[in-house]
Amino acid sequence: RGGQAQRDIPFAQPGSLTKVFAIASGKGGVGKSSVTVNLAIALAQAGRKVGLIDADIYGHSVPAMLGMADTRPTQVDDLIMPVPTPSGVSVISIGMLKPRRDQVVAWRGPMLDRALVQMLSDVYWGDLDVLLLDLPPGTGDIAISLGQHLPGAEVVVVTTPQEAAAEVAERAGTMASMMHQRVVGVVENMSYLPCPHCTAEGKEHRLEIFGAGGGERVAATLGARFGYDVPLLGRIPLDPSLREGGDAGKPIVEADPTAPAAVELSEIAARL
Ligand code: ADP
Repeated sequence: RGGQAQRDIPFAQPGSLTKVFAIASGKGGVGKSSVTVNLAIALAQAGRKVGLIDADIYGHSVPAMLGMADTRPTQVDDLIMPVPTPSGVSVISIGMLKPRRDQVVAWRGPMLDRALVQMLSDVYWGDLDVLLLDLPPGTGDIAISLGQHLPGAEVVVVTTPQEAAAEVAERAGTMASMMHQRVVGVVENMSYLPCPHCTAEGKEHRLEIFGAGGGERVAATLGARFGYDVPLLGRIPLDPSLREGGDAGKPIVEADPTAPAAVELSEIAARL
């Protein structure tokens, strides 16, 4: 928008009533995007007006998880209209703004910053109760941009129980705090697999595939480091139907709301 004044970011204005949560992780593959889309839908199911920004510029997977990979947002005047999911979540992703689906995004920091600002300010969000941002994994440019443009955003850290994952997750949380954002909690994903044979016999037996304790450790370490309580918001089990839902574009909280992973995701949403 050469020479034109930049539009304000509505969520950064004093008096904005929108709660902004950035979902962060130390590394990829821990289920950050799956958690983000399911939390967004669970919040909408609970009656909140929800926006979702896929800020994972290189690894955008939110549109596919919502069955929107080929959907393009419309434009009204110079505002982009977010795409609504069946449950009413307003979604925008860099994947939807590219001219072609297969185009590879290879942008440097300043371009990433511009893309984030565009998704925040050039999109018609209306009055949202909650805005969720799916951040790229790690502690890169987008996390810094977010800290600058939305200092009031609160951060949720997603990790697996594994020692190595917990360590990098702590770094992502510390980065958020350096950008003066409050870490409101930790979500442990892939916590255990309920043994199917025992479940069939009415017994409970949890197979801890990725070890145990990572979520508690990240929460305790960050809490001690920042001097405030960082709760463990929940532990989501491994569940093939969660993966299937993501692959099919039908998130588990919608497709199979009574599955244990879906119940846990809804409880985590209620704690936000
Ligand atoms: P990230 O955003 O951290 O890279 P994704 O959300 O893309 O991770 O998840 C990586 C893969 O793991 C996806 O195929 C997803 O469906 C799967 N997955 C995530 N969480 C679970 C879970 N609790 N149970 C089973 N599969 C999961």
